[in-house]
Order: sequence, then C-alpha cells, then structure tokens
Amino acid sequence: MDLPMIPAAKPIIGSEEREAVDAVLASGMLAQGAEVASFEEEFSALAPGTEAIAVNSGTSALHLGLLASGIGPGDEVIVPSFTFAATGNSVALTGATPVFADIALDDYSLDPDSVAASITENTKGIMPVHLYGHPAKMAELRKIADSRGLMIFEDAAQAHAAALGGEKVGTFGTFAAFSLYPTKNMTSGEGGMVTTSDPEVARKIRLLRNQGMEKQYENELVGLNNRMTNIHAAIGRVQLRHLPEWTAKRQENAAFLSENLEGVIVPHVADEAEHVYHQYTIRVENDRDGFANALREEYKVGCGVYYPIPNHRLPSLAHFAPNLELPNTELAAAQVISLPVHPSLSQGDLDRIVEAVNAVAKAGA
Ligand SMILES: *Cc1c(COP(=O)(O)O)cnc(C)c1O
Repeated sequence: MDLPMIPAAKPIIGSEEREAVDAVLASGMLAQGAEVASFEEEFSALAPGTEAIAVNSGTSALHLGLLASGIGPGDEVIVPSFTFAATGNSVALTGATPVFADIALDDYSLDPDSVAASITENTKGIMPVHLYGHPAKMAELRKIADSRGLMIFEDAAQAHAAALGGEKVGTFGTFAAFSLYPTKNMTSGEGGMVTTSDPEVARKIRLLRNQGMEKQYENELVGLNNRMTNIHAAIGRVQLRHLPEWTAKRQENAAFLSENLEGVIVPHVADEAEHVYHQYTIRVENDRDGFANALREEYKVGCGVYYPIPNHRLPSLAHFAPNLELPNTELAAAQVISLPVHPSLSQGDLDRIVEAVNAVAKAGA
C-alpha cells in the first residue's frame, strides 16, 4: 500500500497570514509595536477579565509570569511531572524548586490529593497544566490553594479557549501562560501570551520582557529581551480569528474518533469541561511502542507520544526529585499515544485512523 502519511499535526498557514506579514514588512515597523498591542487586546478576549501580554514563547510566558509573581530561590512550586519540560524548567529558571506531584489518570492533570501531600512550608504556588487541551481539576486545586494561601499559575500552553464550568482557562490563577508554537491550536510562528487580572503582575511582565524598562533607558528591573515582533503578532492575529472554527473542527474530529475506536482507552471529558483537543490521546495497555510503530509504518497514521519520560526522571530535572515515585505518571508515560485530530483532517483520513487503530488493537488483544 502506498498511502500518504497522515501527519500528527499540521499548522494551517494561508494567504491571509502571508498578506498580514507582508503588510508589516512593508511598514518597516518590525519589532514590538502596534501589531503586538492589537494582538494582546484581541487575545485577552479568550480569558475575560484579564489583560494579555505577548512574549516570544510559551516558556517565556511561564518564566516571566513566575518572576512577576515573586517566585525565586527558596520557594517551591508544585508541578506535574507528566508534561512538557518547559513547565518544570520555568520554575527552575527562577531559582525556585519544582516539586513534582502525580496526575490523575482520567484527564492526565494534577491529582489534588498528590498536590496536597506535596505542600511544605516553602510552597508558594501550584502550576496545573491543562494537558492535551482538557482543563485541569481547577475547583479542587483552587480549594487547596485558598486554604493553604498558595498562588495558582496555569500552564495553558495547550488549552486556548478551553473552559470549565463556563470559566475560561487563563482566568483561574495569578497568571496563565499560552504557547503559540506552530503545532499548538493556533500559532504566531513562535510566541507566547500571559493573561492576568493583576495589574501589578501585568506591569512587571511588561517590564521584564523589555530589559526592565517602561521609560526608555530608565531601567527599573533586571529584565530580559523576551519581546514578540510585529511580524509574529500579525500571524497570530489572523490565527486568532480562525480559532473558534478550528476548535470546533478538532472537537468534531474527536467526537468521531471516540465514537468509533475500539479496544483502546479514549479521552475522558469531565463534567462541565470544554476540551479543545490540542491532542487526542488514547491509552493502550500492552506494547505501546509496538502499537505506535504499527500505526506509522503499516497504516501511515502519524502519531506521537507526549510524553515518554516523566520530567522528574529527566537528566535536567531529576536532581530535584531523587527517589520520587509517581505511579500514575509512569503508567501514562508508558501507555499514551496521541492520534491526529487537527482541523485539516478529511473524513477519509478519519476513517483511515479508525480502521488502523481498531485493526492494531484487535491484532494485539
Ligand atoms: C508547548 C508547551 C510549553 C512551551 O511553549 P513554547 O512556546 O514551546 O515555549 C509549555 N508547556 C506545555 C505544556 C507545552 O505544551
């Protein structure tokens, strides 16, 4: 069979993005300026009641959000280990200690009991990740945070426009960080956004992304250059206008897969949760790597494993968590496979994905 590969992810870039970039190039105003300010204004509608601050990556959004929230050496922030390394990295980069808690296996997000058990006198905050686009267990986490006087920092890198009980992600904590990397639900090329309803945190992030300057050459803080360019903002503004239609298509694709897949564990959606399916992630109980290889090689269905190594066992972060055991994290890392769910899939692609998964599951059962 000479089937074309169905890609695991596919950024959609069209003539509108090209025209928007061309207009910025023609203007000569390339660096952070009016286009970035408009993008921030428009993006903040995803998290009502917040202001949005644009930066050059999701990682910068997490890092500057933490610095602006006062996180630094001696502090602990509770994070999941089952996530992209940027979550724990951003904590470590402030000089604070990432403390890894276990996840729940229904939605792969922080398990509130494990979080509660991880709190010490140095804990300053909890950083849930809305993994795969499904909102984390915010009601339970908020209860813990409120009763222990902790801040909540949302890693919303994968969850643009997701919601829980009618509340949008990006509104639950001191700040939230979104990524605009090409494989995310919308992109600016590279880029990130912080949303916050705290004006002082917002002001500090604006300073920190720009060498600590509000007034030129009167630097108030030691800062970085984490600015977004007008070129990237122009792409992001076009993408933001398409986000509702792309999210709806991801949700339709996911609904079709969940209805038709057999012999695998399909994604769970919590009551009152709006899942935006950055990834459509199944679990297979036996020989995950063999399963994924068969999908790719025999059936040309692109798929990914997010994430094969728990962060608390990565060479870069393991020293923060010697001898830690996180059983649900280990199980998920051994069993997950993410299938294509992106908005460019055709009905033919979806049929092929179902046929392939069901055949491989049956052969392995
Ligand atoms: C993508 C991602 C990030 C980092 O975003 P970048 O834009 O790549 O820096 C952080 N956390 C999670 C969970 C992510 O998926």
